[in-house]
Amino acid sequence: MNTLLDNIGLLVTNDPSVGAGLTGEIADAAVLVDGDVIRWVGHSADSPDADTRIDLERRCVIPGFVDSHSHLIFAGDRTAEFTARMSGQAYSAGGIRTTVAATRAASDDELRRRAKDLVAEMRRHGTTTVEIKSGYGLDVTNEARSLRIARELTTETTYIGAHVVPPEYADNPDGYVDLVCGEMLDACAPHAKWIDVFCDRGAFDADQARTVLQAGMRRGLMPRLHANQLEPGPGVQLAVEVDAASADHCTHLSDADIDALAGSATVATLLPGAEFSTRAAYPDARRLIDAGATVALATDCNPGSSYTSSIPFCIAIAVRDMRMTPAEAVWAATAGGARALRRDDVGVLRVGANADLVAVNAPSYVHLAYRPGVQLIGTIR
Ligand SMILES: [Zn+2]
Repeated sequence: MNTLLDNIGLLVTNDPSVGAGLTGEIADAAVLVDGDVIRWVGHSADSPDADTRIDLERRCVIPGFVDSHSHLIFAGDRTAEFTARMSGQAYSAGGIRTTVAATRAASDDELRRRAKDLVAEMRRHGTTTVEIKSGYGLDVTNEARSLRIARELTTETTYIGAHVVPPEYADNPDGYVDLVCGEMLDACAPHAKWIDVFCDRGAFDADQARTVLQAGMRRGLMPRLHANQLEPGPGVQLAVEVDAASADHCTHLSDADIDALAGSATVATLLPGAEFSTRAAYPDARRLIDAGATVALATDCNPGSSYTSSIPFCIAIAVRDMRMTPAEAVWAATAGGARALRRDDVGVLRVGANADLVAVNAPSYVHLAYRPGVQLIGTIR
């Protein structure tokens, strides 16, 4: 049984072959869906016959957001750290250890319930595909169970045992890298699709990060990397060197970093929720886009540096403070996120793609930035 979603005021397809501009926009549009798959996209006037019809009442319809960077498996709360930071204290990678202690002490059910609630919260804000990382277990048992729970919620699971060095390895970071590449990888690889490392000040250097990524790749995991968040560094170059799907954060980039990204298939995933919540300068999206790099936007949802699950919030920041156009920001949060996960079945509304459609209760997606903080995501079916 198929359904025609009809009377769409403005449709964002992200398919320039059927619509106008980067976002492939069609006015007065309709989409035919059959179960979870798109069967037809075009102008309402040309609509095929359908078993049922839903009237979108001239609203804007976009592809569901693809949130390609989140850390949802955790327990505890870092309100005090946030409050201190807003009074002037700087953010450092070490705060992660607070969450590690709480996560290790939590039951499976507690971790599962929190993650499910966050995924549901993301869904209400229009996200239909989510990547979830481990990284708050930092021992064999807790990294593996984090990924097992994440796998219940998404196929896009990322092993980041190399998030920070846990306290028990403070005097032996290379010993910890050996664990991450050995016994911990053995326990985690069956539940993970991706391997990731926090390559930055206070976390792991380029040699350690390369060792971890290569160990994961030998086990069939695909690489992605936390790079250049806290200061300029080697992360982006390493990401490009190993053909990582994404270099995430990209807050401090040199001209050479931007050239390397522009000449590669590695997406620059920008996470403005992190700069917002740590009161840091935003990444230079304009420079990346103008150089020809592919840019994605994601939430980085985590309890320390970016406790938002809302892609529309990130879009509002990207437009207001990072000089992305509304169309570029929506593209980055949909098609860009899909590229950062090397997916072509999401982030785009074309025949054969997943029927992940999201209605914006407004005539245009521009309202996502124009009306910040307002819940504009509606339901279709
Ligand atoms: Zn992250």
